[in-house]
Amino acid sequence: LNAADIPGLAWEKMDGLLPAAVQDAATGRLLMLGYMNAEALGATLSSGFATFYSRSKSRLWMKGETSGNRLAVRSVHEDCDADALLVRAIPEGPTCHLGTASCFGGEDEGPGWLSELSRIVHDRATSGDDKSYTRRLLAEGNAKIAQKIGEEGVEVALAGVTRDAQGCTEETADLLYHLTVLMEARGYGWGDVVDVLRKRHRA
Ligand code: AMP
Ligand code: ZN
Ligand code: ZN
Ligand code: ZN
Repeated sequence: LNAADIPGLAWEKMDGLLPAAVQDAATGRLLMLGYMNAEALGATLSSGFATFYSRSKSRLWMKGETSGNRLAVRSVHEDCDADALLVRAIPEGPTCHLGTASCFGGEDEGPGWLSELSRIVHDRATSGDDKSYTRRLLAEGNAKIAQKIGEEGVEVALAGVTRDAQGCTEETADLLYHLTVLMEARGYGWGDVVDVLRKRHRA
């Protein structure tokens, strides 16, 4: 993270204040919108935590300075005409001061949440909690995980011809969960899988 990575921002055109959209770096979810002046951007890049210029407080404001719910910044990018910023960050708690993950509400995060599921599976794997089904499954090894995927795959296939959309949805969820466990065991993730799928559609 270096201010020099972001040359030629349109500070003058924007009267010194650029809108900065903050996106969850793991799931892609839009978390909040704030404004940064050059000083706030500098503080963001040097501290690694999203810092804005608060127009109501007339001062720099590091998100989480009182709540502790900071935004650990992974990258900062400008938009096409350099008058807006995209901040990709890992939230350390709910981003909205109302206690929700996103200021834009909405619980339906979509498929991006699978990355969050990967994080939860990884947590279980490293937790030492032997009541965790995930942890026990991982301990039983790749052959056991593979067997579960075979079973769940067959259940999806059966649901596809015998059950309604809700039934198919539940079986698909079981399959995706067990695939997530395999990814944990074998050291790859949903991002890698999506990359493969996406590259097949690049001309
Ligand atoms: P925090 O930065 O989380 O310590 O919160 C301190 C204060 O900043 C809160 O009381 C709110 O006034 C404001 N605030 C916190 N989070 C947000 C947000 N996502 N959007 C706008 N204002 C916020
Ligand atoms: Zn723009
Ligand atoms: Zn909010
Ligand atoms: Zn099932």
